[in-house]
Amino acid sequence: MTRKPPVDDVNDDNPDVREPKRWAAGIPGVAVSLNRGVQQMGAARTARTLRLLNQREGFDCPGCAWPEPQGHRKLAEFCENGAKAVAEEATRRRVGPEFFAEHSVAELAGRTDHWLGQQGRITHPVLLRPGATHYEPVDWATAFEVIAGKLRGLSTPDEAAFYTSGRTSNEAAFLYQLMVRSFGTNNLPDCSNMCHESSGAALAETTGIGKGSVTLADLTIADLIVVVGQNPGTNHPRMLSALEEAKGAGAKIVAVNPLPEAGLLRFKNPQNARGLLGRGTELADEFLQIRLGGDQALFQAIGHLLLAWEDEAPGTVVDRDFVDTRSEGFAEYAEHLRGLDWARVERATGLDRAEIEGVARMFAESERTIVCWAMGITQHKHSVPTIREIANVVLLRGMIGKPGAGLCPVRGHSNVQGDRTMGIWEKMPEKFLAALEEEFGVDVPREPGLDTVGAIRAMRGGKVRAFFAVGGNFVAAAPDTEVTEAAMRSCELTVQVSTKLNRSHVVHGETALILPVRGRTERDLQAGGEQFVTVEDSMSVVHRSRGRLEPASDQLLSEVGVVCGLALALFGPEHPVPWAELAGDYDLIREHIARVVPGCEDYNARVRLPDGFVLPNAPRDSREFTGTRDDKAVFTANPLTVLEVPEGRLLLQTLRSHDQYNTTIYGLDDRYRGIKDARRVVLVNPDDLTGLGLADGAIVDLVGEWPDDPTGRVERRAERFRVVSYPTARGCAAAYFPEANAVVPLDSTADQSNTPTSKSIVVRLEVSAHNHV
Ligand code: SF4
Repeated sequence: MTRKPPVDDVNDDNPDVREPKRWAAGIPGVAVSLNRGVQQMGAARTARTLRLLNQREGFDCPGCAWPEPQGHRKLAEFCENGAKAVAEEATRRRVGPEFFAEHSVAELAGRTDHWLGQQGRITHPVLLRPGATHYEPVDWATAFEVIAGKLRGLSTPDEAAFYTSGRTSNEAAFLYQLMVRSFGTNNLPDCSNMCHESSGAALAETTGIGKGSVTLADLTIADLIVVVGQNPGTNHPRMLSALEEAKGAGAKIVAVNPLPEAGLLRFKNPQNARGLLGRGTELADEFLQIRLGGDQALFQAIGHLLLAWEDEAPGTVVDRDFVDTRSEGFAEYAEHLRGLDWARVERATGLDRAEIEGVARMFAESERTIVCWAMGITQHKHSVPTIREIANVVLLRGMIGKPGAGLCPVRGHSNVQGDRTMGIWEKMPEKFLAALEEEFGVDVPREPGLDTVGAIRAMRGGKVRAFFAVGGNFVAAAPDTEVTEAAMRSCELTVQVSTKLNRSHVVHGETALILPVRGRTERDLQAGGEQFVTVEDSMSVVHRSRGRLEPASDQLLSEVGVVCGLALALFGPEHPVPWAELAGDYDLIREHIARVVPGCEDYNARVRLPDGFVLPNAPRDSREFTGTRDDKAVFTANPLTVLEVPEGRLLLQTLRSHDQYNTTIYGLDDRYRGIKDARRVVLVNPDDLTGLGLADGAIVDLVGEWPDDPTGRVERRAERFRVVSYPTARGCAAAYFPEANAVVPLDSTADQSNTPTSKSIVVRLEVSAHNHV
């Protein structure tokens, strides 16, 4: 099957390609932030909006989940990508009924994601009737009746899937999962299924909680920070300030990545003159340019070396007290690593032993170590064993539950962690479900529901007929674009709760609705007065977010309003949950959260504290591991995976450009990687290009190969990518998502977490039949 590019991508054949940058942020970061703001919002609105971003009395950044500092906040407590996210939301551009009257859905489907996103904020609910060519305006009551009617007409509630993107507030997420479970299903796929599900699975098993164990303050006092499979310069830019502060206090930083990302090398902090005008701070003391998927082998090798040095000088490397009193499984782990095969390690990592020994020595000498990771680790078939292996090394040094040390999965979307805390999960524990029933007097199902990949499979197989999404751009975020699109088109009903136009509005079911909502930046006035919402960041801090701008249209509802409106249409006014009251006063929702969600006691009072409050985390707070099998930290022995690639093939990872956030494409430049005005590019090591007989500038198709596909479809093709000679690790290529999602097979997923393997796809590059150069 072939994935053709949309119509306005033609300039991608001839992009402006320059040397990758060796540093991040600085003056260009400030200039781009302001420029995008002024383009979308005008100067006055830019100034008014950005001054509230990430401030205590303002609104939480709709970008990533990086935490704000406790106590004092700077005037500009945001990064370039946060400013871009706000500019996109607070734009003055509008998509109203006249836009939908002018553009047919077929015409819109031929546009790129970037073009769709740039049209502006959707102002009215719209409905696409069966067989119609255009969306038409619809009033809210009719919209809710259409959806409720379709849902009631299903043979079973399990024929519906209810997706959540990670921007949804805690209040909306809590009510949404309550509505879905009251309806009778646990089909609650979310974006976390595609990103940190592997972290949750591995950490819950080894430490008893599927979250990280460090605070922002820990990062600044660590003496070794290892950043693995993560590109903070683009994906969590304010993390660079924390790394700079740690560096200033004497920390060593190790970067492990297949690409030499600018943000890992040097940071020019735009918040101070030295950063703006000077050379900035060199961040990484060591850079291990690892092969894709080689991180498990790396951490096994580090563990092996630490154990060997402990044997040579007992009591100097392994934290015996921690291991003996607070963990289990150490003997089996140590025994397993004794037989490590260094030849396999070197093949898996592409690193030589001396490089690994240098970094292992840093682990041995550090008293306070933090390991951070993101999608570079979580999106492989062996992601869960990889994270277990990271945990093994951290545990053997006793680097958990003490200041300046711990495990740090860095979350992507701004409230993805909060949504999970609020019950957005297809398999919430019995305790949570029982508490919901007791609190509201409703019956909720116990059968686990569908995750993201499971929901697409069920749509493909005709078992899910209705799809409802709060936020996000499901079609673009999910793997195997052609399969996902066909699955979506097979539904009888698709509903998208959105702020802006995206691909999931033009790839739709028989009946489709777009329900437009207020954004984080906007005032939320309800019957009970002006409301705020709450969110949880990547380090478990829960705090308020209050928008101040006038909403983009008087037709918009809040996400809470949409959930309550639909629930009333679905269940009627006699339902035990007082939906209408909850919609008018979010304090009432928070009172229920306080009684149902563990750790949220006295929620209304604590979120009103200036910096909110931190959710309990037993490993971090008290070195306890309640929730594991025997309430101890768990060492694991994991068979080593070496990703083998046939001759003439490459391992491909999908990644973001610097001008996008998740599926939102802000612009067509990837400044740090030196690429301008293009998205259909594939980055390949120059020596690999020579070996493949290709030159920089060639136009190729990406042909994904997966012989194990249970559907028998071995190949997937994404057409016409421009080859860019780039210093990636040997044998490893990279291309942007969502364009390259077309070659990620739906059924190729991580063991245990079911996360798509978007960071290790075997591809061949075929000179394109549509070569325009
Ligand atoms: S680091 Fe993340 S949360 Fe902070 S301003 Fe940037 S995008 Fe927003």
